[in-house]
Amino acid sequence: MSNEFPKFTEVIRNNNRCNNYESELCHFLDDCSTASNSADLTSKKEEFICRNYSTRNKIGRKLDLYDTEYDIVIEKLLTTCGTLIDYVCPRCGKKETTSTPQYKAFFNDFTKNLHPADAVQAVFNLQQLFASKTCPKKECNADTAAAMDVVDKSFVEASPWIIPIKLHFISFGLIFGLNQLHMLPLTVIHNGYTYILAGITFLKDHHFRSILAVPGGYIHYDGLQDDPPVVVSFTDAVDSMAALGALIQTIIYLKTTKPKKKPKL
Ligand SMILES: [Zn+2]
Repeated sequence: MSNEFPKFTEVIRNNNRCNNYESELCHFLDDCSTASNSADLTSKKEEFICRNYSTRNKIGRKLDLYDTEYDIVIEKLLTTCGTLIDYVCPRCGKKETTSTPQYKAFFNDFTKNLHPADAVQAVFNLQQLFASKTCPKKECNADTAAAMDVVDKSFVEASPWIIPIKLHFISFGLIFGLNQLHMLPLTVIHNGYTYILAGITFLKDHHFRSILAVPGGYIHYDGLQDDPPVVVSFTDAVDSMAALGALIQTIIYLKTTKPKKKPKL
């Protein structure tokens, strides 16, 4: 797995519609690879934050990043991992397409009875997503609102470089708990690409922590700790979050490799 990490910016840049935020991420990752020590790494992280969040309020000399993961990060990646949906009205046949990509990568009521591996596959395949739209024609809504049917759905990029999966409701954390995390697939094949379970974010006492994939295993990352984290198995990393009673936030899969070229006939 380790030899796949240096290629990661290539995977992002391979995306034809790399937006400003994605370009900044690549810049940051390239920057990190030249960091001489952890203090240098921290300053590069601060530079990335200053470049991308300069319009936010300041607390003292630092920018205030208190917000949801969706507002801070995921929303900026919808041009890659957002979903476009085509609807048709069953009453008048009118067709509509979502004008902007929507975030639909959720574990939801449909996936709650599935094995976590099947639930992940269902999200990758955009099965059973929550999507509703009312026909804009007045005559269709005379008696009852005319719900349009979903006729097609796709990620903006057929194979996004990142697929962040969230739980649809807070209460879902009670159904989809830390026990299920053990059963998540560490790799997923989608459109011929291999995705790895690259990280899971958690919230505990207004502070984010994460489990991150690193060469040789996983780490329990806590930005407030100075000691370098120990590389452990995925199961042990999950257990350490469970011991804290941390809440699951986002399960992140990253694309790792380009599809194998088809042999020439
Ligand atoms: Zn209609």
